[in-house]
Amino acid sequence: MKIAIVGSGYVGSVAGACFAELGHDVTVIDSDARKVQALQNGQLPIHEQYLPELLARHAGKRLHFTTDLRGPVSQSAAVFIAVGTPPLESGEPDLSYVDSVVREIAGAIQNYTVIVEKSTVPALTSEWIRRTMRLHNRHETDFDVVSNPEFLREGTAVADFLYPDRIVIGSSTSRATELMKEIYQPIMDKSYRKNPFIPVVQSAPVVPDLIVTDPSSAELIKHASNAFLAMKISFINAVSNVCEAVRGNIEDVCKGIGTDSRIGQKFLRPGIGYGGSCFPKDVSAFRALSSKCGYEFSLLKDVEQINLTQQLRFVAKVKEALWTLRNKRIAALGLAYKGGTDDVRESPAIAIIERLLAEGCQVVAFDPAAKEKAREVLRSDRLTYADSAYEAMDDADALVILTDWDEFARLDVGKMRDALRHPIVIDGRNLLKPDRMAAEGFIYYSVGRSAVTLDHVAAAKQAAGNGAQVVEVKK
Ligand code: NAD
Repeated sequence: MKIAIVGSGYVGSVAGACFAELGHDVTVIDSDARKVQALQNGQLPIHEQYLPELLARHAGKRLHFTTDLRGPVSQSAAVFIAVGTPPLESGEPDLSYVDSVVREIAGAIQNYTVIVEKSTVPALTSEWIRRTMRLHNRHETDFDVVSNPEFLREGTAVADFLYPDRIVIGSSTSRATELMKEIYQPIMDKSYRKNPFIPVVQSAPVVPDLIVTDPSSAELIKHASNAFLAMKISFINAVSNVCEAVRGNIEDVCKGIGTDSRIGQKFLRPGIGYGGSCFPKDVSAFRALSSKCGYEFSLLKDVEQINLTQQLRFVAKVKEALWTLRNKRIAALGLAYKGGTDDVRESPAIAIIERLLAEGCQVVAFDPAAKEKAREVLRSDRLTYADSAYEAMDDADALVILTDWDEFARLDVGKMRDALRHPIVIDGRNLLKPDRMAAEGFIYYSVGRSAVTLDHVAAAKQAAGNGAQVVEVKK
């Protein structure tokens, strides 16, 4: 099927490459000529696993990139809108990019076309799109509007797209529903996984749930899903704060909670809070929508507040570990909002580094993928970027871990000790083990677990001298 996708960002580029992989003829359109030129030259503006391989496989064949909307849209059976919906001051999403694309689509379509909302938008947006199309002289029979929310996660976006848990189609006509089913057929009839180029995700369902509903419900599914996940993160962060106060161990608590099949382990990971281009924006958008409809969704306000508090508590821990912060040299590992991506939008790592800089620290930062993107938003005379984790640690008063990259969990503690001026680590992602850090002579702070102090280190040394294998860290 001929498909057009408007927007070549994290969602549009992945959706485009994956639809080409499923056998469709795809044109991805973006108004940013530099991005389009890079993509035409085989360069990806984002870091995403398997995307380079899909681009190499399909670009110039079943996958094209252009700045021209009119041509491809006029020939496509479905046009996916995947432009940004960033937050406004009010908390509502800025839908002006969607609006402007819809107006362009209205002027371009020639035959019956399904307009698909892939961007995350509030309930009732499909009504606005329909109205805009009609205001631009399009008859009801020329088009349908479908909500098809995207649930991919940056870092595993390609695999998530090709092996999803569910596909949601919010449609008000059977004609549009059937066309959407046809687009996803290679996933639904399992034909893609019979001879996959992208390895099958064993944990994903063999056949995803297909949820066909009305457009407003589909729009709500996306906002409610992200709000729920953000709530789960804030919930466990709040529990971790209580855990610290009663000297419990959050890892055991998470296991104890998460093994209840009604709750599940996923997203029960305490840290420095959620970030990225979706959760903060979608929680505030969902709250704003509810408020507009006359319902104050105050739970979501708490979710946001806990998230912010988590950053402040982390900076307080850095202070506790270092006494004063002015002129202290801090190695910061991580800039992306999570491991596996170069996305720094609403990254708690960036927010924390900004706070440390405001306190007068010198910061040397390293991230395996996000350095260039961070450079665009984070600049200071007191900030430098290193080329490796150990280079960042060189002669630093302390190390802070801000992003959950796998490689940070595998750091060589001997090399860390050699590089750092003082063996002090404040781990915002619980990537390292307190007992091990005590045994290795580190003062170590993490989230929801007792801190390893100099006294613990001394006790660990003594225990090692006595031949003991395990040192239990208790306050
Ligand atoms: P992005 O900012 O990475 O990409 C948006 C792209 O749209 C940009 O390249 C921009 O140049 C282009 N664009 C803007 N106006 C345009 C126009 N008039 N014509 C053509 N191109 C235009 O955004 P993203 O992260 O891909 O997110 C897109 C949407 O998908 C958002 O609503 C987001 O909430 C949602 N979403 C994102 C994710 C994610 O993980 N990033 C996951 C699910 C859903």
